[in-house]
Amino acid sequence: MDAFQPPPAVPPAYLAGPGFLSIDALMNHLNDWARVNGLGFVKIQASNKVAATGQYMRYTVACGRCRGTRPSEARIRVTTTAKTNCPWRAVATARAPARLWFITKFFNTTHNHPASSTAASHTCHQVLSPEMHNVLHAQLQIPTIRTADIFTTLQLAFPDRKHTISLKKIQNLRQKMQREKQNGLQQQQQPSDSGVKRLQGEAEPA
Ligand SMILES: [Zn+2]
Repeated sequence: MDAFQPPPAVPPAYLAGPGFLSIDALMNHLNDWARVNGLGFVKIQASNKVAATGQYMRYTVACGRCRGTRPSEARIRVTTTAKTNCPWRAVATARAPARLWFITKFFNTTHNHPASSTAASHTCHQVLSPEMHNVLHAQLQIPTIRTADIFTTLQLAFPDRKHTISLKKIQNLRQKMQREKQNGLQQQQQPSDSGVKRLQGEAEPA
């Protein structure tokens, strides 16, 4: 059985507009469509940097089967997460005068693999939106809150993006924040530490 059902084509609306305010807004929208269609897209190359703003105005978008899937899942579902060097490529550009983002060109619309049944587990579908980040950050400020409660809050607040958050991910972010907080405290304590040393020095006989 060599033949497979090719994944659906990206809707022409991404070319026609109305366009997106940023490349990330375009990619998030595109990946929301891709996720339910067994696909995922990534930015692989930026160009046309504007010196004044440091922003890139052109990105190459690739399928590539969402490179960088989690190792645990790669072990379990080798066939669905394996890279196939998919040739699908498009270009996204910020168009003058409004600098809105569109897909301006498809270089290659061929996928060399069928749609994946586990696209939601791919790394590119686990990017938190800025709104989710804000809610998560506010929740993590509450010292006594349970990780499970944060998870529930996010699930209820963002029902269409449930796939982007997991208990494990919240735990990891929480641990990272605690480490950063401890490092910050240690740095704050250093001046008083040196103060103690100086006092000890003074107490020593000259
Ligand atoms: Zn592909």
